[in-house]
Amino acid sequence: MGVNATTLRKILELEREKGYLDGAVIGGLDSYLARWDSAVKDSELLAISYSSLDIDQRRDWIEQVLPWLDEMDSREQKAPAPALNMNEFLDLPIINIKGISFNLAAKFRRLGVSTVRDMLYFFPRRHIDYSKRKTIAQLEIGEEQTVVATVWQAREALLGGRRSTEAIVGDETGNMRVVWFNQPYLAKQLRTNSKLALSGKVSLYKGVKVFQSPEYEPLTEELIHTGRLVPLYPLTRGLSPRQVRRLVKETVDFWAPQLVDFLPEEVSVRARLLGLSEAIKQAHYPQNEQLKDGARKRLAFDELFLIQLGVLSRRRDWREGGEARPIKPERQVLERFLSSLPFALTQAQKRALEEILADLDKVRPMSRLLQGEVGSGKTVVATAALLTTVANGYQGAFMAPTEILAEQHFSNISQLFAEAGEEKGAEGNVRTFSGLLPRPIKVALLIGSIKKNEKRELQRAIWEGEVDMVLGTHALIQEEVEFQRLGLAIVDEQHRFGVMQRSALRQKGTNPHLLVMTATPIPRSLALTLYGDLDLSVIDELPPGRQVVVTSWLDPDYREPAYQFLRREVEAGRQAFIICPLIEESEAIEAKAATREYERLSEEVFPDLRLGLVHGRLKTGEKEGVMRRFRAGELDILVATPVVEVGIDVPNATVMLIEGADRFGLAQLHQFRGRVGRGQQQSYCILVAEAPSAEGRERLSVLERTHDGFLLAEEDLRLRGPGEFFGTRQSGLPDLKMAKLSDLRLLELARTEAIRLFKQDPELSRPQHQLLSWEVARLWQGGVGGAEA
Ligand code: ADP
Ligand code: MG
Repeated sequence: MGVNATTLRKILELEREKGYLDGAVIGGLDSYLARWDSAVKDSELLAISYSSLDIDQRRDWIEQVLPWLDEMDSREQKAPAPALNMNEFLDLPIINIKGISFNLAAKFRRLGVSTVRDMLYFFPRRHIDYSKRKTIAQLEIGEEQTVVATVWQAREALLGGRRSTEAIVGDETGNMRVVWFNQPYLAKQLRTNSKLALSGKVSLYKGVKVFQSPEYEPLTEELIHTGRLVPLYPLTRGLSPRQVRRLVKETVDFWAPQLVDFLPEEVSVRARLLGLSEAIKQAHYPQNEQLKDGARKRLAFDELFLIQLGVLSRRRDWREGGEARPIKPERQVLERFLSSLPFALTQAQKRALEEILADLDKVRPMSRLLQGEVGSGKTVVATAALLTTVANGYQGAFMAPTEILAEQHFSNISQLFAEAGEEKGAEGNVRTFSGLLPRPIKVALLIGSIKKNEKRELQRAIWEGEVDMVLGTHALIQEEVEFQRLGLAIVDEQHRFGVMQRSALRQKGTNPHLLVMTATPIPRSLALTLYGDLDLSVIDELPPGRQVVVTSWLDPDYREPAYQFLRREVEAGRQAFIICPLIEESEAIEAKAATREYERLSEEVFPDLRLGLVHGRLKTGEKEGVMRRFRAGELDILVATPVVEVGIDVPNATVMLIEGADRFGLAQLHQFRGRVGRGQQQSYCILVAEAPSAEGRERLSVLERTHDGFLLAEEDLRLRGPGEFFGTRQSGLPDLKMAKLSDLRLLELARTEAIRLFKQDPELSRPQHQLLSWEVARLWQGGVGGAEA
């Protein structure tokens, strides 16, 4: 009766909503109840005639029935669901899988496969379609196809000087030759007169059809290498495709049927999804294309659904963890500030500011993402929000990922305030401004590099409430900084700021409103998934008159002229960036390569210019020291590994030269490009790529033509997929194996279902959601924006 109880609950809730007019179900409640199965009907509680009750009686009756239904429900669900995780076996190491030795296990570990779960979810990169069965006579040149034939003869042969195997096979339509290069041992394995399935491409040799190194297997077993959709798995040294296929097949056959599905049945039914065991099976060894797609859909749905559930609960934790202090708009203060600016806000800035102001005025803490390209004017909007906060008598904090960025914000905000009002004094890292509010306001910079006692003094002032606004790094919330009355916390650069920090923020004793800012243009579909716990404001318009950074993609042959160009810019008093190639293996290797490049450039190419180097292996202080000198104009050229991506502002820099440009994603290249063109001078972005792939070339030429960050992000997502798009390291997104974030329909479906489920059981505490709740926890543990990047 599970379904009935749920349905009845819904009907009764609807009835209550509609005012007890017996309109919730067609034909009336009485006739609905009459159709119920006997066990429930026998209950006295349901033995009534709803239609003959008056409104008050109806209300009372429904208020009695609802809790009773809940109890029935939970009593029912408890019985079949033991409190132990029925899928616990999934966490067993793969050594428990039949046929996997320690030796093999070590090889699989290199592929990221350590547990039974990993193995079941170790999906093929793709499938080859060998399902087309042909006779020998029907075989066509160049197509992937399969024949079943009898081995007439198999022998070792020297082919092109290499020991190989040659066989003659035949069926009722004819005979043909098959060769396997470099595999002499096969000659002994292929027994004469046995039946063999062969899959692969057929070529023509001296006018005769020949199978060259086809997949093969005896017809006695279930086919896994031939005659079907055959999976192609990622490999590592010492693991052959055949071996991996066989081991995965055995794992799937034995373990997949034991999986207990964690998706609530009503979700599977509504979303038309395959069961979990079936989906896993079909993902590896699909019966046909439809089932393969079905498997992909189910498994992709799982990923998106679990992410959504996690995001929803994060959002709820934030919003319901306590009340925030409403912050009133204070229009006059705002007007005065805005009219003091040397420019008018763009429409997009106005819209974003209004959205923020509306949130601030609520007791529910804001959690909003402000997204806008580099230079779109986020800082001004953030400053207006901070000023509003201070006008309400609260404190504001503004956190940046690095000290130099915090300094930059400090000096930008100070400048804005100095223009809007008057700077009354600077004491160490605290500046006082008057003319903005009836009272003076104090803005402070709190970073690690200031002196100990100065820092202690600042912390005291913050705690006592003497300071109104604090700029700093994320360390602001990690160190012993306590605010007297923090009203708004702004965090710059989302993906370095995770859940942990957010809860640390909360532990600062208050429930501040939270505004997260990012310059990474995130396509809407991705934003919904990744930042679904945040409301979204987008500044999708650049201030008028922004220069377009001239972008061109050069062949390495043109590096010399590019250097000359760069030199001319430097001679004209400007500065340049040179970005070294992305090396994914390790930061250490990347740093080494960058050091070599730096030495080459400073000794051979620009011996007379002032060069600086930053890479990820430098200590924070060293790195910031170099960047600071560059910003101060003490260096002409900054050579950098991709770490400089995070926004430093050097208006005098006009050239951005990117080596190995094809290795970067569009979004990232666009970020780099945003480092120049920030001043008055025409600026340039030069992309150098050694030998880009077709897809790489496409990306580079898109970048030459397009200057809109959002378009580029969409394009990037399309070309490379989400993992690459963000680089899983910093995305904070659980690894997606099946889901494509460009699949909007599935994303919406998962989101709708997650919201629906979340409404029923936000903590996933019902027994029937136990497995699901484990899955959510598992997916979100570790990676998800938790650890500091
Ligand atoms: P972001 O933080 O989004 O990268 P900023 O807020 O630092 O962008 O703005 C970049 C530059 O543009 C700053 O010099 C700022 O003063 C200026 N700016 C901001 N908004 C406008 C506007 N509406 N019109 C003209 N210039 C603007
Ligand atoms: Mg900025």
